[in-house]
Amino acid sequence: MSVSLYGQHLVGGVWCDGPGVFASSPASGPVRSFAVGTVELVDQACAAAEAAFASYARTSRAERARFLRAIADEIEVRAEAITEIGTQETGLPAARLNGERGRTTGQLRLFADHIAEGAYLDRRVDPALPDRQPAPRPDIRMMQRPIGPVAVFGASNFPLAFSTAGGDTAAALAAGCPVVVKGHSAHPGTAEIVAQAVLAAILSCGLHSGVFALIQGGKRDVGTALVTNPLIKAVGFTGSLVGGRALFDLCAQRPEPIPFFGELGSVNPMFMLPGAMSARGAELAAGWAASLTMGAGQFCTNPGLAVVLDGPDADAFVTDTVAALTQVAAQTMLTDGIAAAYRAGQSRLAAHPDVRPLLQGEAPARAAAPALLETTVAAFLADHTLGEEVFGPLGLVVRARSLDEMAQLARSLQGQLTATLHMDPADLATAQDLLPVLERKAGRILVNGFPTGVEVGEAMVHGGPYPASTNFGATSVGTLAIRRFLRPVAYQNFPKDLLPNDANP
Ligand code: NAP
Repeated sequence: MSVSLYGQHLVGGVWCDGPGVFASSPASGPVRSFAVGTVELVDQACAAAEAAFASYARTSRAERARFLRAIADEIEVRAEAITEIGTQETGLPAARLNGERGRTTGQLRLFADHIAEGAYLDRRVDPALPDRQPAPRPDIRMMQRPIGPVAVFGASNFPLAFSTAGGDTAAALAAGCPVVVKGHSAHPGTAEIVAQAVLAAILSCGLHSGVFALIQGGKRDVGTALVTNPLIKAVGFTGSLVGGRALFDLCAQRPEPIPFFGELGSVNPMFMLPGAMSARGAELAAGWAASLTMGAGQFCTNPGLAVVLDGPDADAFVTDTVAALTQVAAQTMLTDGIAAAYRAGQSRLAAHPDVRPLLQGEAPARAAAPALLETTVAAFLADHTLGEEVFGPLGLVVRARSLDEMAQLARSLQGQLTATLHMDPADLATAQDLLPVLERKAGRILVNGFPTGVEVGEAMVHGGPYPASTNFGATSVGTLAIRRFLRPVAYQNFPKDLLPNDANP
């Protein structure tokens, strides 16, 4: 399908301009102009979303499932155009964009199946007990209801799966909530073509045009206006700790505070237990190097920390990891800003008196070469900044003098999206000791795997205690993600005809 770009916002089903334009900064291909977002456009989009909520929240599950599938189909119709502009804007290879598109359409269809099945409503009934003494009990039935318009911030590192029609949008639309997306300025063209797909689905399904809006990147006032708009009832965000925390604080300070579901990343520690290191250290080094450099390390699940027991196996592991990373060429990063932040993070660690740089490759301006550094548990415990994420292909080896020290480091960690145990049967007792600590630190715990590559399914948790996310009771990936945009309502003593469609189990 041939696709034209308007360079505009989508508000209330209409493509519209802003007061000015900004130029995109693609990794390759033409520089394009896009309308700048404004506070007024945000207000219009939120008003349209609120107007849409009245009818959209009352659609049947089958109608919403049809809508989600229609979005997936319309994205596929535009597949070629999406990959072409996506690769230009982000520098990600076509194979990655194609895979991410499949993940995005898969997510939409998974949510369609999930709501059609209906268990997410968590319906509970306390039947009336008219003869109960000393007082009768009325009929009470509870179910989950959509919360209202949801704001979504597109992520720079997943231009499809965590952006315009990505996981947050799919979960909110599945729940029955209209969505206002703030597009990321790193991929405005990709965002617009996906928004065109969503609009086509809205039209083919005959839904209210306010169900979905895209405001292209503007200045900080756009994001601020979006999270503080009184019509917005929750926010889905993937991005930096600084940005996420600023927006979280704005949500908490509103006259009516709202939940801010921020996924802010982590260093995803791996504990390399001695049995596994002795049996297959070289294999682990190769696996780590591959996981660390995948997508130029621009994954929130990038395993940035390997904790090892000091000794000859640790020495060999470090040597093998350096050798494997040396084979990986510099890769283009998503934006100039992200490349600059990577270089700054690398320099900060390398300049630390208790950190030893092992590999620091050279890379052109918007690119990153793999980096490896090492330190000790004692240094790590003394300076918590060593545990801060450097977004990119950078690994830090932490040497422990004993298993006790390894456990001490685990206890000192901040909240993480993932934690990994590399273990053999001989390591079982050590793993059993570490597990209760790691359960309190991470949303997902892996054994003998690497955390990059997050399955989208029923059992996945992509979240964790702060600062991995701003709400450790939630996940932004998998069907459980829908719960972020639902609220339980109890209906007491309702006549059957007044109950919402789904209220009878
Ligand atoms: P970001 O700076 O957090 O920005 C994400 C979105 O939030 C953008 O739309 C941004 O708007 C908006 N925003 C940020 N701070 C704001 C504020 N104070 N007020 C209003 N809006 C605000 O993330 P990014 O641009 O994707 O990348 C920057 C850094 O984030 C990276 O270097 C990396 O460290 C980290 N990152 C982490 C992950 C992860 O998964 N953990 C993913 C991506 C990025 P503007 O475009 O107007 O700034």
